[in-house]
Amino acid sequence: MNHAHWPYPILRLKPGKEALLSKQHPWMYSGALAGIPASTLVRLADASGNVLAVGTASSSNPLAVRVFRFEDAPLDAAFFKERFQQALALRKTLALDGPETGCRWIFGEGDRLPGLVVDRYSHALVLQVGTAGLETLREVWWPELLDLAKANGISVFVERSQSGRKEEGLELVNRLLKGSLAGPVTIREGAANLTVDLMKGQKTGFFLDQREHRLTVGRVSGGSRVLNAFGYTGGFSIHAGLGGASAVATLDSSAPALDQAERDWVLNGLDPAQHMRMQGDAFELMRELEPESWDRVIVDPPAFAKQRKDLDKAFKAYKDVFRLGARATSRGGLLWCFSCSQHLDRARFQEAVWTALLEAGREAQVLAHLGQPFDHPYSLNHPEGFYLKGLWLRVF
Ligand code: SAH
Repeated sequence: MNHAHWPYPILRLKPGKEALLSKQHPWMYSGALAGIPASTLVRLADASGNVLAVGTASSSNPLAVRVFRFEDAPLDAAFFKERFQQALALRKTLALDGPETGCRWIFGEGDRLPGLVVDRYSHALVLQVGTAGLETLREVWWPELLDLAKANGISVFVERSQSGRKEEGLELVNRLLKGSLAGPVTIREGAANLTVDLMKGQKTGFFLDQREHRLTVGRVSGGSRVLNAFGYTGGFSIHAGLGGASAVATLDSSAPALDQAERDWVLNGLDPAQHMRMQGDAFELMRELEPESWDRVIVDPPAFAKQRKDLDKAFKAYKDVFRLGARATSRGGLLWCFSCSQHLDRARFQEAVWTALLEAGREAQVLAHLGQPFDHPYSLNHPEGFYLKGLWLRVF
């Protein structure tokens, strides 16, 4: 049943579970509910029927309810318009949005719009719609997003699947929603022009969350040999090249990503003789690297822990690639270790890096704790939104 119209059906919590809402955490698991959600939009009530919050719901997802507002009020066009405007205002305040940039406009729970991700790539917007409730409400929010986007110079709209749709019983999508797309889009990031394939690239096409760290690598790579492991389309590599690196290697298992990295290297006016392609499994290829042969090493693997139960295995995988990265780093060289697994908290992440360095027989100074950029904010009430962690080290 499609219950898009207010008032949405009431869904009751088990007695005592309303205490969970007092912390304004936007997620409610099925175990806290008195029944199974019968609609994709609900008014969440305590056991006596007092409505405390409104959100989207799923009968199939263990993460059963995502709260949009902690009051008894509808998710109507005015509501979405305001949240969209608030989200974009932040990016403008921080000077991250612009006609040539790549910038995350909406980061789900972090922008109090659970399940929705929107990325801007120059004149194009890529959407990820993660819940059945947002699908039910599409006719409500889509015109608001469209208006705001058009007013900001956006003419192309693409929708990509998000992990999570399956749990909500939704089919996967990969489509052009509006406008025309001749091919990949180019964004400007600092001194670099970077190409983003909105239809075939990973996630929404690019990893905007590493922007600041790519810029840093560009600043400190002059005269250095730079290894970009898990390099995707070579964002770190191109910044290093533009920053004056003497040699750069991009390592990734994806052939299309490396093809793009090579094209972008040339697009940015860099000499192909100074770029090396390393295609294959990082766990194997990094073992073959000459020890201490790279002055700048970036290790940015995919999320190894997709679920909490994967944590032990993931810890070992992170530790192993960080060890191989440390081993490859020259004495006095710089090493960046990253994890984008939300389930691996900062303490465990640091333990993985520390163990890796010990196993490699190398000492290191911590130059900085790194995280996600300002266009990927998370809510204080939703610590799960903090996912990207990095340690920048000088290695001896
Ligand atoms: N640093 C990149 C983003 C990396 S995303 C940037 O700034 O854009 C993680 C990358 O790891 C992806 O490109 C994926 O293709 C690659 N990858 C995943 N598993 C891998 C493996 N076992 N060996 C090598 N690359 C791998």
